[in-house]
Amino acid sequence: MSRLPTLFVSHGAPTLAIEPGSTGPMLGALGRELPLPKAILVVSAHWETAAPEVSAANSPETIHDFWGFPRPLYSIQYRAPGAPALARRVKDLLDAAALPAKIDPRRGLDHGAWVPLLFMYPSADVPVAQLSIQTHLGVQHHYALGCALAPLAEEGVLIVGSGSITHNLQEVFGGGPRPVAPEYVDAFRDWIAERLASEDVESLLDYRRRAPDAARAHPTEGHFVPLLFALGAAGSHARATRLHDEVTFGVIGMDAYAFGAPVVRPVATEGVGSAAGS
Ligand code: ZN
Repeated sequence: MSRLPTLFVSHGAPTLAIEPGSTGPMLGALGRELPLPKAILVVSAHWETAAPEVSAANSPETIHDFWGFPRPLYSIQYRAPGAPALARRVKDLLDAAALPAKIDPRRGLDHGAWVPLLFMYPSADVPVAQLSIQTHLGVQHHYALGCALAPLAEEGVLIVGSGSITHNLQEVFGGGPRPVAPEYVDAFRDWIAERLASEDVESLLDYRRRAPDAARAHPTEGHFVPLLFALGAAGSHARATRLHDEVTFGVIGMDAYAFGAPVVRPVATEGVGSAAGS
């Protein structure tokens, strides 16, 4: 099987599942365009543990890990099979890289995983496992986790980092309506796009000091570290393709990237890809 790209996707608010904007159709087109993976490994901003853990449930539950959102969101089920064999492979690779991981036999899929997959693989027929993040260990740690798992892309596994290219929730909920994105949102997204295009991993790993308004774009790093994970998992000299750029709620960047194997920027077909009512 030819090498799969690795992906970074911005999952936005849970409401993306019922209000797909332009991101949902893009994800749908992407899923149709990629070679069908044997299994998917998602690193989501919404599973945080002290040390790496990988999920190995046979039938992972759909976790509705959000509160106060419209009721239809809570009835959505994403019933993809689990990937316990992949989970063991992930643990072996991480253990061999001196990044010891534990297996969690019960963990389900949080919305950082199932909302994008609802669009990408709506028939839920590709097995899925998740790997947790450790925000307190920073971007270098997540880049190293990705590097350790780079062999998976040649084994038919699609690696997906799911976070947000900018993620300041205080500005979403605290500032009222924002019809126009503040300048820092575009400045930060552009800086990331330029550094990725030039494969400047050193700058990306030091983004906190070098990127414009990094601490404002990411008051906490949980939604950023999946980007470095996906980049590392693509192996050395991972060419980046910017798949998508959209801003929701005025400040939440929805950019998506593919790394490594070439990907044509997906062109969404109007009306296709909506997961409403799934
Ligand atoms: Zn999130």
